[in-house]
Amino acid sequence: MTPADRIARTVRADVLAQTAYPVAPAAPDVIKLDAMECPYPLPDRLRQEIAQAVAGTALNRYPGADDPELKAQVAHAFGVPSGAALLFGNGSDELIHLLVQACCAPGDTVLSPWPSFVYFDMAARFDHARFVGVPLTAALELDLPAMLAAIAAHRPKLVFLALPNNPTGGLWPDEAIQAIVDAAPGLVVIDEAYQPFAGHSWMPRLLDHPNVVVMRTVSKIGLAGLRFGYLAGHPDWIAQIDKVRPPYNINVLTQAALRVVLREKALLDAQAARLRADREPLAQALAALPGVTVYPSAGNFVLARFEGKLDGNAVHLALKTRKILVKNLSSAHPLLANCLRISVGAPDENTALLAALKELSSP
Ligand code: PMP
Repeated sequence: MTPADRIARTVRADVLAQTAYPVAPAAPDVIKLDAMECPYPLPDRLRQEIAQAVAGTALNRYPGADDPELKAQVAHAFGVPSGAALLFGNGSDELIHLLVQACCAPGDTVLSPWPSFVYFDMAARFDHARFVGVPLTAALELDLPAMLAAIAAHRPKLVFLALPNNPTGGLWPDEAIQAIVDAAPGLVVIDEAYQPFAGHSWMPRLLDHPNVVVMRTVSKIGLAGLRFGYLAGHPDWIAQIDKVRPPYNINVLTQAALRVVLREKALLDAQAARLRADREPLAQALAALPGVTVYPSAGNFVLARFEGKLDGNAVHLALKTRKILVKNLSSAHPLLANCLRISVGAPDENTALLAALKELSSP
């Protein structure tokens, strides 16, 4: 018997049918604008400090139990209201799993506006929940009546709201979110992965609602390699979700690096502010290209639809041959036909992207 036979008989049918979460390989010399990373490396001085802190860790030991000092440092750095508790995750990807595992029995519903972060759907299904995506409007905005109708029909245990939304960049209005929170019978997870670029947050209002938690990550503010996300919520919610967390999920190297980096939070804020300032000029320059529609974004990326001389697939490919990577969403969802998602890069990267696109769109 070959492994293939045994695999076909053993692995879940839905997993067999699934393709793995796509991570595009990137050569060191490419301009990488496909994953909403921060283009700026940490300064050498800080890297040295991290190296020292990491060198001092006890790798022969498991990470200690929850470190209240690290929790306090995270709470302070990110404006978590006093009275809220924190749960740490190996990236917010892990937190998404923990939320589904803690709340959903097999067949229970997880709901989100759609298209949104693909991992809401993947994690829900891997954890035996049912995923319902409620289509955005044709203008890629939240369809509140459709959301309320879907909540009434499906009674979801969990509603995920990415604010700003990935991949569209939209930041849904507070009143609409409030209506969803009021209507949801279970827990509403406000995913603020891109909050540092939006200047707007539900974090200060976290404890005003009995059914809201706020999820964040450090991935978009310069620390994607660290794999660290946090969930803030009422201590009673956090205590339940913590029960399904794998022990020791945040390794000692991550913890040590984080302690150092958080002392320099102002640096991360300055980088985020820079990307935020560079977003509008990039969006405007893209919108000035023939046949390109750009959607309003509050994140560190813009979504653009290419319907000119070249379609989305062709532009994606042509950029790739010029060593510029962007995310092709053309076949991800009918609402995203011909759409590419482009991270805001460093100024020279944005310039190179625009030069390539101008060249591609010239007659
Ligand atoms: N939420 C949203 C909306 C995202 O776009 C992403 C990353 N693409 C994540 C969460 C996951 O981030 P991480 O696991 O790196 O913390």
